[in-house]
Amino acid sequence: MAACGAQAPSSEQAWLEAAQTFIQESLCPTDKELNVQFTQSVIDCVKTVWLSQGKYQGFTLPLSYSFVSVQNLRTHQRLPCCSHLSWSSSAYQTWAQKARPNGVPLPRERLLLVGTLTDLSGDLEQGSRNGSLYVKDNTGMLGCELIDLDLSWLGHLFLFPSWSYLPPARWNSSGEGHLELWEAPVPVFPLTVSPGPLTPLPVLYPEIASRLLRHRSKFRVEQQNLAGKLIQLSALVKSKKKAYFILSLGELSPTISQAISHVSIIVQIPAQLVWHRALCPGKAYVLTQLRVSRIRGHHYCVWMTSPSSHLMLLEPECVQELELEGPFLEADSKSLPTSSNFQDKKEPKGLMRDSRLLHYTGTVTGVLNEPAGLYELDGQLGLCLAYQQFHDLRRVMRPGVCLELQDVHLLQSVGGGTTRPVLASCLRGAILLRGFSCQKPGTQSSLQTHGASLYEQLVWERQLSLPLYLWAVKALEELACKLCPHLLRHHQFLQHSSPRNPSLGLQLLAPTLDALAPPSRSIRNAHKEILEEPHHCPLQKYAQLQTPYSFPTLATLAEEGRHRAWASFDPKVLLPLPEAAYLPCCQLNHRLAWSWICLPPAAFHPPQALVGVLVASSHKGCLQLRDRSGSLSCLLLAKHSQPLTDPQLIGCLVRTEKFQLVVERDVRSNFPSWKELGMTGFIQKQQARVYVQFFLADALILPVPRSFHHSSAPPQTESTCLGQSRLFLLSHKEALMKRNFCTSLGTTSEVPKPTLSFHVSGCWLGGTQKKERIGWGPPEPLTDENKDQKVLLIFLGSSVRWFEFLHPGEIYRLVAPGPATPKLFEVEGSSCTSQRPLELAGCVSCLTVQDEWTLELESAQDLPDMLGIHKALSGSLLTDLLGANVFLLPCSVTDSLVSFSAEILSRTVWNTEVRRCVKLTVAIGTADSEFLPRLDIYIEDPHLPPPLGLLPGARVHFNQLEKRISRSHNVYCCFRSSTYVQVLSFPPETTVSAPLPHIYLAELQQGTWGPFQATASCHVISVVSLQLLWVCAHCTSVCPQGRCIRQGPACSIQTSISQASIRLLVEDGTAEAMVTCRNYHVAAALGLCPNEWTSLLEFIRKPGRVVLKFTGPGAQLESSAKIEEPLILYLHTLCTSPSVLRPVVLSFELERKPSNITPLEPPRLQRFQCGELPLLTRVNPRLRLACLCIQESSEHPNSQGAFASSC
Ligand SMILES: [Zn+2]
Ligand SMILES: [Zn+2]
Repeated sequence: MAACGAQAPSSEQAWLEAAQTFIQESLCPTDKELNVQFTQSVIDCVKTVWLSQGKYQGFTLPLSYSFVSVQNLRTHQRLPCCSHLSWSSSAYQTWAQKARPNGVPLPRERLLLVGTLTDLSGDLEQGSRNGSLYVKDNTGMLGCELIDLDLSWLGHLFLFPSWSYLPPARWNSSGEGHLELWEAPVPVFPLTVSPGPLTPLPVLYPEIASRLLRHRSKFRVEQQNLAGKLIQLSALVKSKKKAYFILSLGELSPTISQAISHVSIIVQIPAQLVWHRALCPGKAYVLTQLRVSRIRGHHYCVWMTSPSSHLMLLEPECVQELELEGPFLEADSKSLPTSSNFQDKKEPKGLMRDSRLLHYTGTVTGVLNEPAGLYELDGQLGLCLAYQQFHDLRRVMRPGVCLELQDVHLLQSVGGGTTRPVLASCLRGAILLRGFSCQKPGTQSSLQTHGASLYEQLVWERQLSLPLYLWAVKALEELACKLCPHLLRHHQFLQHSSPRNPSLGLQLLAPTLDALAPPSRSIRNAHKEILEEPHHCPLQKYAQLQTPYSFPTLATLAEEGRHRAWASFDPKVLLPLPEAAYLPCCQLNHRLAWSWICLPPAAFHPPQALVGVLVASSHKGCLQLRDRSGSLSCLLLAKHSQPLTDPQLIGCLVRTEKFQLVVERDVRSNFPSWKELGMTGFIQKQQARVYVQFFLADALILPVPRSFHHSSAPPQTESTCLGQSRLFLLSHKEALMKRNFCTSLGTTSEVPKPTLSFHVSGCWLGGTQKKERIGWGPPEPLTDENKDQKVLLIFLGSSVRWFEFLHPGEIYRLVAPGPATPKLFEVEGSSCTSQRPLELAGCVSCLTVQDEWTLELESAQDLPDMLGIHKALSGSLLTDLLGANVFLLPCSVTDSLVSFSAEILSRTVWNTEVRRCVKLTVAIGTADSEFLPRLDIYIEDPHLPPPLGLLPGARVHFNQLEKRISRSHNVYCCFRSSTYVQVLSFPPETTVSAPLPHIYLAELQQGTWGPFQATASCHVISVVSLQLLWVCAHCTSVCPQGRCIRQGPACSIQTSISQASIRLLVEDGTAEAMVTCRNYHVAAALGLCPNEWTSLLEFIRKPGRVVLKFTGPGAQLESSAKIEEPLILYLHTLCTSPSVLRPVVLSFELERKPSNITPLEPPRLQRFQCGELPLLTRVNPRLRLACLCIQESSEHPNSQGAFASSC
């Protein structure tokens, strides 16, 4: 700031001295000697500008300002700044206000900048021109941007009264900052005004000029001057070969016939490229010395500037229209080059829209994605600059910049997640800078810095349409947010893609992009895009894009799954009436204890794609997908029925569009009865387990180079090159569960804690191999050839991470890094584990896999011949694993361990304080066998929670289950510690419930495995018994008068539910069967409509229980309450009436479980009386069936029930 008055003279002196030194060093022409006149001119110029601001604080010199050289700015000015010599403080304050509230104004420095304005980069001899502008002094040069360039300024020395300096942004590899020149520069020496031409300049106006082009074959066209109004200005196109732009001149005041007359002029002389900055649409210009030239590869000609051409503003008094003679002066209609040979892509016509071409002037209000060229304009429009080359503009772009967009495309409702209209410039229209921003550039995130060349690739090489481009940019942002910077670096993820070094980002999008925009061979032709009418460019036509995929973070996906699972949890839907009405409360709550939903990608809008890095958890032993937001457990299969075996998949990036998001719901509830199912208060505890399951065959798997994981990976030390390994063939794997281990020998006082672990058994294949330069060396000879090579490997601690990759029948290489230790893999026995499992497994040696050891999958083909004997073994194990039913129930009663593949039919859970247990009901066998035997499998602690994927509909291989026999002689199975479960396939996404087979009853008496469930058309011969009762929902004891009669302790909740059962004798002409119907099926069996059934049950409420048994003619009654004659009479009449004894279609299942091992009753002899003759015949035991559904036979005349008309 200004010093006080007394010091003024001396400080002015000091300022002047400093100024003179600076000017001499930095500004004076180097080839001249000390030039006092020059120095004085510069100081005078500074003085004039300083005094012009009015409030100069009493000093005639700007003492608070100091001169700055270009080099000083470049090397010392690390922060953006601005300097306004001609502005007062209040003027600056007003200006700075414009940056707020969303931005920070550029801080003000008091610097004086003087330099030469030039379009020549470098010095005269070596410099080149490409249309850029620079400020130059003796110390160097800096790129600059200027609004409204006057061509006469070039090459002159100026004082810049108002400017800002922006140091290079992080993305800017050139490392050069730039200047933004706010006001017109003030010349240090008066500019010489070139006098106008002495004689009026002969010019052609556009209409004649364009006719001349068409008739050039008939006339030799001389160099001409063209005059007209600038009506179109293209972008400055820079290719490897050359740079150029095209402008169009139109008539000054067009008449109707001239309305469309315009003439295009190509400017491609390097020294003239700077004109692009001086041209202003709407103004009239004269371009001199133009010649006609044909554009290579095109059938039409254009006007082109020559090296001697000049650009000047049109002043009517200085020009004169050139008189030409010839036939071409007659007007003709074919005036414009028209596009003839471009083919529209075959798109569905109705979906394509045309964008609108318009001019627009607006202010940038936001930077959406700078490398991708996406900005926000005036708070409501999107702006996409990617279809132009916008490098030069990019450094200027920030909120507050004012732009004039020539011939910009307006695209509305582009879809793909973009909601607002988008303006996008192709090469036809220039983007003109109309105002700088007073805001300081914001700090840029890595996402805002990298990727420019990848985005360019999407537009220029992949030729994406704008909707697809906007989606791809958004998708890359989503993916970068998921994966960077913890899993990958931004610059690695968004790097330019080349065949040798593909960009991971693009690889992840490729499946979608390939489907929606197959790589096209045609490249954009800038000349056509600018010149041809009608206009054709990538932005001209577009179709609204349905968002193909979004890439949610794993945490979002899991949260969404959880949210949907609980939103759709409705006990009334899980337990629909009428079934729920007959369930006592304990059954009701068990049925609600476990349920699941499966969400395919299509369940989301837009569909979701799953992306994450595959990791194996060393804490849980499961596989997980991981991104920055967290991890999500997953169940993977290589493909159908094929487990994951290759540990190299760890660390790979996985992307799939086909997956199932599974949410398992565990609920602990105490609903007293079905009536309260709508009330949420009875849910005590609820929790969800979320995971995804998919086939790797459906996924894109991208290995992530190691350097990506850790940018500063330790250099390969000698020890990492060392190592030893040994091959083993895996024959059995046991469950991953908590087992007791002594953690170490030294600390015996510690109580052994259950540790998560698993064992595998197998045998060594050959001896230990040492690492050599290329691969593994030959196996060491075995010390004892005859010794059994069986081994038990124990995985505990972080080595449980290998669990998902180890499968019987596969050969693995166990690798121990570091220097070779003799007999590392030959530890005899183990002190860490008891000897018993070893004995059980029949293994000689037992080895604990160390945390740092790794596993590799070996394919059997790659192994030398010495392994020949083991190949056969591995093959048989594979068939054992994946093969058909190896579980023959009746034959293997004695063998307590069984293995089989089965489809899970249902899963129920007991989830109480007392007992936690999961029951799986499975259908054993392969899918192609018609009738599948069923079996129950129980999973209890410590095997809870069950492994992932044990879902109804899934096919699973169960290995070494323990077989048990219940008191009722049914076989069931239990998990034990040796059990190993492998999911073979996931539940189908759409379950088509096949209709039950329609059979004759006699078919059930043949063969060992009849259908378990079927349908038969049969006739009800008689009712054998009928029981109707009301029981306590809590304790299920009978409730006469609606009250529970249980004594000590009496039930506190008095809710009663009805129960019913009926036994019918049916026959279908081939056999007889006894059918038991329960609960609401009784109503159907009796042919009662719902109202009749409800009223009947109400009559029973008072006695509590009514039992009828029919033994021959007449009914014998047994009841817990007083006999109500009319009721019994009614029931008796009903049960013997044709409305019950009628033909029906019966769906049933066998009452006797297929897993029941008691031998079937043999046929017995029965005596019949046929008239006088007694007959003795062999009769099969009567079939016993349980009713699943009774439907009226279509043959029965009264199919609506006994009293249908009364309902
Ligand atoms: Zn266009
Ligand atoms: Zn009770």
